Amino acid sequence: MKRISAQAVTKAVRDMCISANRYQPEDVKAAIKAGEAGEDSPTAKEVFRQLSENIDLAAGTGLPLCQDTGLAVLFVTLGQEVYVEGNLSEAINEGVRQGYGEGLLRKSACDPFSRKNTGDNTPAVIHYDIVPGEALRIAFMAKGGGAENMSRVMMLAPAEGWEGVKKFVLTRVAESRSNPCPPIIIGIGIGGTFEHSAKLAKLALMRKLDDVNPEPDLAAKEEELLGLVNRLGIGPMGLGGRHTALGLKILTSPCHIASFPLAVNIQCHSSRHEEVEL
Ligand code: SF4
Repeated sequence: MKRISAQAVTKAVRDMCISANRYQPEDVKAAIKAGEAGEDSPTAKEVFRQLSENIDLAAGTGLPLCQDTGLAVLFVTLGQEVYVEGNLSEAINEGVRQGYGEGLLRKSACDPFSRKNTGDNTPAVIHYDIVPGEALRIAFMAKGGGAENMSRVMMLAPAEGWEGVKKFVLTRVAESRSNPCPPIIIGIGIGGTFEHSAKLAKLALMRKLDDVNPEPDLAAKEEELLGLVNRLGIGPMGLGGRHTALGLKILTSPCHIASFPLAVNIQCHSSRHEEVEL
């Protein structure tokens, strides 16, 4: 049995909140650099150049990558042989509280009706998975409002299948236009239930941009749909270009025989996420 203190959890979450809001993951940085070279239009090239400059400025100054430092979303994978000394959820929320406070990050959490800010960016949205083993893995994502607002869940008829998925995703991206600050990353969850598909879609955004789906059929589907999305021509910041999306990732799960749940979680170019293992 491995023992982990609540303080260690809090510190890890605090550090990720600050660091993810300052430093883009290497795969996103590389995709943005490649985007500039891959555009023909001077406007699209200039947008990509400014995005790269913004990444360098944030890393150099310690200022956040974007003024919207997001709602804190955490995926916790808890090994059954781990004993956390203290309340795990409270330790995570304390980490968010400290990270957003000490990192001078904007607090975006508020009551949905009164719009009163909770003051410390808590409560975080925490998803738990229990697995065998002695490891505690925590993945943090700072999810901005602009891109999250463009996301949707749809219960397709089973007969709609892949064609239905493509139609829904393309319509969603086309209707979103510049709102989610493209170039976007698209997380797609297919299967499970209504809420499980949404969780899968968000989890898909944690995958690296340059990974290849281990299931060849899904890898082909990801490539096909990413190509179709980029043919929409919305381009970086909606100003036209070849790159509407930097990546498109699909996760699936078995579903009810009468259902075809489909969730599309849209992520802006400022894809701020990190993982740690304790
Ligand atoms: S969508 Fe992303 S880049 Fe745009 S304002 Fe929100 S967090 Fe910032």
